[in-house]
This record gives sequence, structure tokens and C-alpha cells, in this order.
Amino acid sequence: MISSDFTRILTKLTGTVCIGCERTHYGDAPWCDRCAEALPWWDAGQACVRCGEALASGGGETAGVCTRCAASPPSFQSTQAAFWYRAPVDRWVHRLKFHRALPYATALGTALATTAEPRGDLLLPIPLAPERQRTRGFNQAAEITRTVARIWGIPWQADGLRRCKETAMQATLDRAHRVENVAQAFVVRDRRLVTGRNVMVVDDVMTTGATLAAASEALRAAGANAVHLLVAARTAAPASAGDGTI
Ligand SMILES: [Zn+2]
Ligand SMILES: [Zn+2]
Repeated sequence: MISSDFTRILTKLTGTVCIGCERTHYGDAPWCDRCAEALPWWDAGQACVRCGEALASGGGETAGVCTRCAASPPSFQSTQAAFWYRAPVDRWVHRLKFHRALPYATALGTALATTAEPRGDLLLPIPLAPERQRTRGFNQAAEITRTVARIWGIPWQADGLRRCKETAMQATLDRAHRVENVAQAFVVRDRRLVTGRNVMVVDDVMTTGATLAAASEALRAAGANAVHLLVAARTAAPASAGDGTI
């Protein structure tokens, strides 16, 4: 697009404010080179290919799959993340969600699109519950998806997935209740959108994976060929007290 070319040229001339240190730099990324080195990049080589969780060192895992996924394979094929959910990325997510700081969505989406590989032909963000969408006014997962879709040139649908019942705040629940809380939480708006396709589902933070697993199950039930997850940030251990709000 002409306008994005124009923006790129303008950025080259005037510089960009780094999202980490807030100093001006002249690269294409939302962060400067020095901050990029210090960011908690998620490492595919150290994570379970299915759920993205950090693999315990020293054993049990075969072929990059964690013991839980080996014992009980999830309905989704793979998980890719941009970052581990650690400082400063946890702060970025917080500012994005609760202070509507949309440049962080661009930064997280850029990080995801430049570190992950496309594994499908459609991107769908995890939707907010309708009530929360009304009070927050925007969906952070959709904002991240918008950037990934633009960089990859892959179509996305803001409302391809819908919440079909209100769910309690995930952060207040333990693991077992989180899983129960989101069971059958999603419906696919139009089966024709996903039937036979490889669908990539996008969210800001993956903690237990219960929300994403529920979305994946709805997509598979609607005929999706395969589901691949893309998350801006992955907590290292699912039992840890992460953010996990949905
Ligand atoms: Zn910086
Ligand atoms: Zn796993």
C-alpha cells in the first residue's frame, strides 16, 4: 500500500521511538537493537512444539513434546509465541489491555510475525466476552492479529470465533476450574469459513492454554483441518500465577 510505504520512508527520516527505552532509533522494528537483545524472546528450541511450554531440561520429552502433551495430545497442532511472559512484555500487555496503549499491539504483532512462521491460511483472534468487549471497547487479541495479518498478507476475521457464554475472570480461578470455565465457550460464526482450512488462532497471553484449547475444539468441531496457535507471550509454566485474563 502507498500509505504504508510512505510511513516507512517517513520513519527512516524521523526515526521511531523505541518501545523499550523510549529513545529514537532508525530501524524498522518497534524496539532498538540494544533493547531487542534484552527482550525475553520465546525459543522454539526450548519449548514443546504442541503447547509452547518450556521443556523441562534433562528428560521425559521426546521429539520436542512435553510429557503432558505426549500423554494427552491437545486438539491444536502447534503453538508458537513471540516472548516468554516476563518483564518488560508483561508490562506491555498490561498497558495494552488496561490503558488502551495500541502501539504495544503493533509491537507484539510485529514480534510474532517476524519470529513465528505461518502455518495456515486464516487468522482468528480469541474474542472477548461481549460484556468485556463493550466495557474495554477493543479486543487486544484482534489488534495483535491485525498486525500479523498485515505483515504476512494472510486474511483474518475479527468475529470468526464468538463467545457463547459469559466466563468468569480466568485469573481468579485455579487450573481445574479454568478448564471447566471455558469448556464450550466458543462457537464458530460460519462453518464455511473454516471447513477444511488450517486455521491460526491468536491471543495475547497463553497461561494454561484452556481458553485456546476450547477455541481449537470449537474450530475442529466446525470442520477445521488443523489449528495452530500464535500467542504474543507464553508463561513458562502453566501452573504459575500468570495473567490469564480472557
Ligand atoms: Zn530501546
Ligand atoms: Zn506440551
